Amino acid sequence: MTTDDLLARHRAVLPAWMPLYYQEPIEIVSGAGCRVTDARGRTYLDFFGGVLTTMIGYDIPEIREAVERQLRTGVVHTSTLYLIRQQVELAEKIARLSGIPDPRVFFTNSGTEANEAALLVATNHRRSHQILAVRNSYHGRSYAAMGITGHRSWSASALNPLQVSWLHSGDRLRGLLSRLDPEQHVEAAVDDLREVLATQTSGDVAALIAEPIQGVGGFVHAPDGLLGAWKKVLDETGILLISDEVQTGWGRTGEHFWGYQAHDVVPDLLTFAKGIGNGFALAGVVGRAEVLNEVHATSFSTYGGNPVSTAAGNAVIDYLLDHDLQANAARVGAILGDGLRTAVADRGIVGEVRGKGLMLAVEFVQPGSREPNTAATVAVFEECRRGGLLVGKGGLYGNVLRMGPPLTLTEDEAREGLAVLVDAITKVDGA
Ligand code: PMP
Repeated sequence: MTTDDLLARHRAVLPAWMPLYYQEPIEIVSGAGCRVTDARGRTYLDFFGGVLTTMIGYDIPEIREAVERQLRTGVVHTSTLYLIRQQVELAEKIARLSGIPDPRVFFTNSGTEANEAALLVATNHRRSHQILAVRNSYHGRSYAAMGITGHRSWSASALNPLQVSWLHSGDRLRGLLSRLDPEQHVEAAVDDLREVLATQTSGDVAALIAEPIQGVGGFVHAPDGLLGAWKKVLDETGILLISDEVQTGWGRTGEHFWGYQAHDVVPDLLTFAKGIGNGFALAGVVGRAEVLNEVHATSFSTYGGNPVSTAAGNAVIDYLLDHDLQANAARVGAILGDGLRTAVADRGIVGEVRGKGLMLAVEFVQPGSREPNTAATVAVFEECRRGGLLVGKGGLYGNVLRMGPPLTLTEDEAREGLAVLVDAITKVDGA
């Protein structure tokens, strides 16, 4: 079957609202390290890692062996109602790394479910269904997770099981707080929180959920310290803080292991997914025992924390720590980030180069203004692919290029991808 045949069959059987990247969609058939090969035989350097999912690269022997060892037992999965050794071991590791005091860990299969679990726990704990969320956020595909997603294009249902109030985001290019310097921004965002609490809620809100760096939103990040400043207000009435670390966790930002650590705060709950499974369906929530234990019903997940996913998760986390990939994200991310800033920040179509570690973005604007330039973004995106580089798109207006390569990216690979990016941006800017 050719890729074209596959595309026709995909379009005929999958829902029309499922997006596919590229004018000529690609089918990835193999991968090694930071490279993947498509069914047409073309190899790409992968700066998106399946939306920041392939955290330590493709075809990693340690992961393959861990998963094969489990498969050889004959048990893919029975039930999480039985003890699972690697689930407990992984939970211990994540608990230790979480920074949350007296932590408990609950495993799910996706980031969406992790956020659902966090919402379940928070609303139970506080006996309130009021949630504060941030504009331009993305938290998943379920009814409740869509309800706290501040992107109309990703939030299909106007109905919402929660009462949600929206806080201004950290966007420094557009939005109400964008023209303020970082200190003023934090002050204004705290005022915004107080005003929203006083005018749009009854006060007994369950939680505030935020991504330390907004992933789908285009790697927008508020000034460091904002979550901590918000938490001080939340603590006055016991409102919980949920840090959605689905994209920012595991050292990706280089400077910290979790995104929240840039904010001088410890959240009450944190959710994780994507990279921890390096492709296997593995996600979850960590919270203080006092909060996480207090769900007023029995709850478990058929597949959450299954032996195969958690075997992979243990191998991923061991690899990540043994190879100090956080330090690599800082070092190699600086080459890529500084290289982009030097080479393209002054281009007319470039509004901002931003991000931390190996979570980097370029936002495209109409020359001479802050108006989003989606056409230029698409053109650069397609040009990168022609140059053998996979990147992502994002942002409220689809005008942000996102780079989230495996944390194993080498300096040479960073330079190689940088050259493709700079060529593509220069070409589109000059067109
Ligand atoms: N939270 C964030 C910050 C995400 O980026 C995503 C996925 N893009 C999710 C939650 C949802 O995760 P999943 O797709 O695994 O359900």
